[in-house]
Amino acid sequence: MTAILDQTCAPLARVSGCDLRVPLVQGGTRVYANFDYAASAPALAQVTDRLTELLPFYASVHRGAGYASRISTDCYESSRDSVARFLNCADDQVVVFTRNTTDSLNLLASCVPGDTVVLDIEHHANFLPWTRHGRRVVPAADTVEETVRRVVAELCAKPAALLAITGASNVTGEVLPLERLATIAHQCGARILVDAAQLAPHRRIDLQALDIDYLAFSGHKLYAPFGAGVLVGRRDWLDAAQPYLAGGGAVKEVGTTETEWACAPQRHEAGSPNVLGVAALAAACDALGALDERTAIEHERRLADRLRAGLEAIAGVRFLRIWPDSADSVGIVAFTLNGFEPGRVAAYLSAEHAIGVRDGRFCAHPLLARLGVDGALRASIGLGSSAADVDRLIEAIATLVERGPQWNYTRTDGQWNPAPETRPRLAPESGAGAAPCSF
Ligand code: PLP
Repeated sequence: MTAILDQTCAPLARVSGCDLRVPLVQGGTRVYANFDYAASAPALAQVTDRLTELLPFYASVHRGAGYASRISTDCYESSRDSVARFLNCADDQVVVFTRNTTDSLNLLASCVPGDTVVLDIEHHANFLPWTRHGRRVVPAADTVEETVRRVVAELCAKPAALLAITGASNVTGEVLPLERLATIAHQCGARILVDAAQLAPHRRIDLQALDIDYLAFSGHKLYAPFGAGVLVGRRDWLDAAQPYLAGGGAVKEVGTTETEWACAPQRHEAGSPNVLGVAALAAACDALGALDERTAIEHERRLADRLRAGLEAIAGVRFLRIWPDSADSVGIVAFTLNGFEPGRVAAYLSAEHAIGVRDGRFCAHPLLARLGVDGALRASIGLGSSAADVDRLIEAIATLVERGPQWNYTRTDGQWNPAPETRPRLAPESGAGAAPCSF
């Protein structure tokens, strides 16, 4: 991975779609500026290279005798080592491949032998699965310090099996003090799960140094958008629980009345696995693991600071933030613009400037309610982002405030769209170069 970091803050890595030209509503095209890494990140070049190399060998895993099957099986199984290295897993932690973070958290929720404590700032994926298994919600306080005190009080008041906490907020990017929370959870007799969907793409996570028991993340947010996710964690709960899915691959022996289930990770991976998705995820772990962390953090910090400084100078911008005392945040900037509906701003940025951001409530309704807004804009930064992209976004927002949109926008079924929409869309079955379909 080439590390280019200069005053202009060029992209730090080559990602898919970096030179994608998209149509503008007023005519012509422009290179797409992607500020939606937090939702789904483009593929790293190392990931697509790895898949191209592997694709000819794609075949059934685990049971095939053919050479391609053996290669695919080796690749699938050795992907666990890449993930374990990336996270510095302990010996008693297993790597289970899933579809995504949501899947991983639902899997763990089916294994927890007791109550789970969560904050009210979580993404729904780390909020809803625990409902069925004794969820206790701690309202976040106005500071990180006070929030930590509330977590301690809840864990001390009544035993809980697990503290399930986000590593970095998907709304504000604020990072939680994980090492401290792990110590607190353990002192109170609980284990800790970290929802690392937003943290893993931005920070190295050392499970042993932080003393984290379980961790989940998604390949598609880690520059490997091919449908695989991960749950890493201590073996005992995973081995004791019912298999997540019943089926082939999760068993040792099946009779007509009795079944002997396999241990984790196979116990929770019934059915034909997503070999290529897992290989992609492992390639991303290897590539990110090889990237100089200090350089990556500095790249992201410079761009996020530049974006905040630029937006701050625009009348009516208000940033979303949970705590004034959070020590760190990843490259996510969420904001509202006085007098402008977030969905309309997002449609304007897309249609008139070829800029992609996310708007809405970010699958974190309780947090948005506590922040007192019913929607916002979120610009998220990644390894393919540049200062030029950031300047384009700032300029587009400033122009909107100054002159208003230069096109009409209407809301249909809850979504803002240009009216009329002039941009062609590719037909779903078409490949590159195919004729766009008209509206
Ligand atoms: N947790 C956090 C913090 C997230 O940001 C997301 C997705 O945005 C999820 C969990 C769910 O991830 P996935 O949709 O990949 O399951």
